[in-house]
Amino acid sequence: MNSSIGTGLNKPLVKSGSYINGCWLASGEQRLAVTNPATGELLTNLSSATAADAEDAVAAATAALPAWREMPAKARAQLLRRWFDLIIENKKQLAEILSAEQGKPLAEAESEVVYGAASIEWFAEEAKRVYGDIIPAPSGDKRLVVIKQPVGVVSAITPWNFPSAMITRKAAPALAAGCSFIVKASEETPLSALALAALSQQAGIPAGVFNVLVSQRAVEIGEVLTRDSRIHKFSFTGSTAVGKLLLKQCADTVKKTSMELGGNAPFIVFKDADIDAAVKGLLYSKFRNAGQTCVCTNRVLVQSEVYERFIAKLVPAVRALKMGAGDDASTQIGPLINERAVLSVAQKVNHALAMGAKLLTGGCKSSLGDCFYTPTVLANVTPAMEVFNSEIFGPVLPVIKFDTEQQAIDLANNTQAGLASYIYSRDIGRIWRLAEALEYGMVGINDAEISNEVAPFGGVKESGMGREGSKYGIEDYLEIKYLCMGGL
Ligand code: NAD
Repeated sequence: MNSSIGTGLNKPLVKSGSYINGCWLASGEQRLAVTNPATGELLTNLSSATAADAEDAVAAATAALPAWREMPAKARAQLLRRWFDLIIENKKQLAEILSAEQGKPLAEAESEVVYGAASIEWFAEEAKRVYGDIIPAPSGDKRLVVIKQPVGVVSAITPWNFPSAMITRKAAPALAAGCSFIVKASEETPLSALALAALSQQAGIPAGVFNVLVSQRAVEIGEVLTRDSRIHKFSFTGSTAVGKLLLKQCADTVKKTSMELGGNAPFIVFKDADIDAAVKGLLYSKFRNAGQTCVCTNRVLVQSEVYERFIAKLVPAVRALKMGAGDDASTQIGPLINERAVLSVAQKVNHALAMGAKLLTGGCKSSLGDCFYTPTVLANVTPAMEVFNSEIFGPVLPVIKFDTEQQAIDLANNTQAGLASYIYSRDIGRIWRLAEALEYGMVGINDAEISNEVAPFGGVKESGMGREGSKYGIEDYLEIKYLCMGGL
């Protein structure tokens, strides 16, 4: 059923509410308002799921599990492949929906849709490669065999910054492994999640195998998805604070968990770097999605010999960035997700300025609208400032000068986060030393575009556990079973 109250977003893939057991939830006393952060326009009002609806989704996923896990991997792969094809066929509409509810420029939204779909394509192929092992036995009368089986019903909670790809990165390996799946999408961006569900239905993925909950009641739904003993695995992408809370909730039923949490990425520029390439990489890493990505640069560390040259190239390039609404083709930076996000960014910048940081550009809200904050560069930043030691999640670039390689390593590792990091250098010895010394799950070396479906994405320390994408990604959705055959 299409949304009836939609204003600017009357599209076939805009749905009315949660997708549970192959049906669309259209009723419900409470409504979930979805707005465009660039304009404040109300896009639609959705039915908001309750804890009882979440229970229904768990029951549906539990009932759908046996047939799905027993389906030959090749047949599951074909259904996933069909889902991928439909997403690609509909990528323009999906990008328009995503950009409208989340704010990112249309071209970026389309890249996300394609990136998200690539996870489905990849894991459709991996479904056919879930191999076991035969282990040489310690005695001749035994044979030792390892098989891998789906963990069972999987629940997930996802954020708003990548409303499509954060869902497919979890759902694709789960479904490929033979698990059924329930996701609670972010209340800020429910429409992209429901559009994915609509296409899964068209692809013929059976009712109950892929369920999407959209709701204002994150806490109540989260309780069901982390505590119900019929669920055997929980996968979360979001902030570290919420991740820690949900991990505790999973403890009582000893669920397997995957956590993709916040980052605090250092971007280190050495004196031997290609400075133009570093500035280009930094602009991509920092300002994509208006600085609202978990892998985006949070702190730039620049070696003193090239500091002035680097700043001289960086600041004009940042000033030239074009901010605007996502549907304007010339826009390079969209709005932040909501006014709270703008206040949080402004507070961190003001804190830094009060502590002695120097403003090189930006540093204020934009006249474009309540959710826009100007691209900002801060110099003279120290580790005591919030912009250094917490995730900024906005278009703000703190710059710190360093002298020695060891200082760069110490500054980079001076955080509990450990997701992405970046080094720009042309010295191969230095590159190896840094790559090994950085306490991060991912290191971009003369490259800031690190995310893709074929490589393992994930963090260390408080940035989380588990990996998404790559040949490793499906392992989080499989159990290892050991068969000991004796008397031979
Ligand atoms: P968030 O933690 O506020 O919310 C994430 C999800 O959790 C949302 O769906 C929200 O409704 C839900 N939620 C919030 N509180 C809850 C509770 N008490 N119980 C149950 N559910 C609850 O994060 P966000 O603001 O949506 O996303 C931004 C964060 O996500 C950043 O920290 C970013 O670094 C992180 N992130 C990490 C990755 C990664 O792969 N490591 C990727 C994208 C985003």
